[in-house]
Amino acid sequence: MLIFDGHCDTLSKINRPGELIRNGFHWDLERAGRYGSFVQVLSSFADHGQRKDPAAVMARQLEMAIAFEGEHPDRLKLIRSASDLKTVQNGGVFGILGAEGAELFKGSIGELERWFNKSLKVVTLCWNYDNEVCDSVAGHRTHRGLSPFGRELVDRMQELGMVIDLSHASDETFEDVLECVNVPVAATHSNCRAICSHPRNLTDAQILKIAATGGVIGINFYSCFLSGSGKAGIKDIINHIEHIAGLTGTRHIGLGCDFDGANPMPEGITGAESLYMVLEALARANYADRDIRMIAGGNFLRLFTRILS
Ligand SMILES: [Zn+2]
Repeated sequence: MLIFDGHCDTLSKINRPGELIRNGFHWDLERAGRYGSFVQVLSSFADHGQRKDPAAVMARQLEMAIAFEGEHPDRLKLIRSASDLKTVQNGGVFGILGAEGAELFKGSIGELERWFNKSLKVVTLCWNYDNEVCDSVAGHRTHRGLSPFGRELVDRMQELGMVIDLSHASDETFEDVLECVNVPVAATHSNCRAICSHPRNLTDAQILKIAATGGVIGINFYSCFLSGSGKAGIKDIINHIEHIAGLTGTRHIGLGCDFDGANPMPEGITGAESLYMVLEALARANYADRDIRMIAGGNFLRLFTRILS
């Protein structure tokens, strides 16, 4: 079965490219390779302690993945186009480069274009800080939504064929982006506020708006976004899937596990090796095989095929 995970932070955990093969974190190529086909969005990310020069930290992570592919094309293929995505059903592990925060572009559309040409295909507009582009849900309402530069950036992303990711965006940013896009958008790793009322999660209205664009929501496995108590199990993952399915059907649900970006994981989940348990739980909850395939990967595959040119 094809697994397509919309978000992980493994590139920010490892120190050298070879650790992509095997590591003690949540995600590596050996464990992803146990599934028939696995597409992983590999996000670059700068944490709280790296805020002096987040662009440099993120660039180093992306360069590491690009270098790894150069040395081991048999182990990891980076997806650069919709036609690359046609090959993923044949088996193997595939990466899609992402930026968790537009800080990578240092306020420059030229930098966005440069990274696009270096295979960056997904941009989460912000992380937990307001930036040049927009306000974060954890920020201070610097722009009250998307900045004028942010509008320019989102426009250019649409023209180039990059996936616009609204996870971490403030509610005002969310509205501004949906006003200026005419393509499907993603929330690569966000859950339902109706089930767990964390501000990082999506309201029902936001879920419906993403679905109306033809977009996809990746279910985040972070226990604090799954359950108000901060303690979660696989049943909580299923609860969020059920909630979105009840609102929109199964066409807009994906996986956005947040491996190596979130701790604690739900009880029983130790990393990529545990994903089969989520799929089995869906089968026990009477999801049809076709729906399970869409949630596991088919929906994100459709979205990325539509956006990547
Ligand atoms: Zn995140």
